Amino acid sequence: MKNIIELSAIKKIYKMGSEKIVALNNINLNFEQNKIYCILGTSGSGKSTLLNLIAGLEKPSAGQILFKNMHIENFNEEQLAEFRKKYIGFVFQSYNLFPTMTALENVSLPLVFSRVPKKIRIKRAREMLKNVGLENRINHKPSQMSGGQQQRVSIARAFVNNPQVIFADEPTGNLDTKTTFEMMDLITGIARKNNQTLIIVTHDLEISDYADTIIHIRDGVVDEIKNKE
Ligand code: ADP
Ligand code: MG
Repeated sequence: MKNIIELSAIKKIYKMGSEKIVALNNINLNFEQNKIYCILGTSGSGKSTLLNLIAGLEKPSAGQILFKNMHIENFNEEQLAEFRKKYIGFVFQSYNLFPTMTALENVSLPLVFSRVPKKIRIKRAREMLKNVGLENRINHKPSQMSGGQQQRVSIARAFVNNPQVIFADEPTGNLDTKTTFEMMDLITGIARKNNQTLIIVTHDLEISDYADTIIHIRDGVVDEIKNKE
């Protein structure tokens, strides 16, 4: 299978006053198309930092990030924003929905940024909300929905542009066990159906069951990579 992302010799160092924090130290990883990955590690091990680098939200201190043969470590902010818009979908632990917007408006937003005409936007956003089981909640605002429903909205938003790669950072961190499994079934189901690459960050071993490949990270280094047969 073809690699969609290749990381080589990635380092991320944060400076806090006179102190240096090595969040990632010499990370070498490949991600293939149409696969589900889980980045597993304890709190503070560098999972979110790694995800943010691959997704073009932060820049590495050293090393290379090839995304479909583009060297995104050399991109400026504008190029990174364009890159994210075109290729990336996100699901966050805290949903990150706009509180004043309805479910439909939240899901439509990536399409607004991609300048999709309004009629098509509404149609696509409605379809996505239906796919996540929220067809009767489209006019609800986040505060009028449960945590699980809000995460469904955020999943619909992540997938509405049909991005090639979806990143999820502790997507079930605020959800109960039953909702966690519903959410994981949903997100992995859509990714598999559309041949997308899904990269999930978690500290929860049960979630890693959904992945084709589990990448263990510890203290900013890759500890072990396990492939499911
Ligand atoms: P995880 O997501 O696995 O919990 P993070 O990637 O958030 O871990 O953090 C890895 C390490 O980098 C931690 O020691 C954390 O304190 C540090 N860190 C993360 N972000 C910053 C930042 N913006 N400034 C300084 N240190 C940071
Ligand atoms: Mg984190």
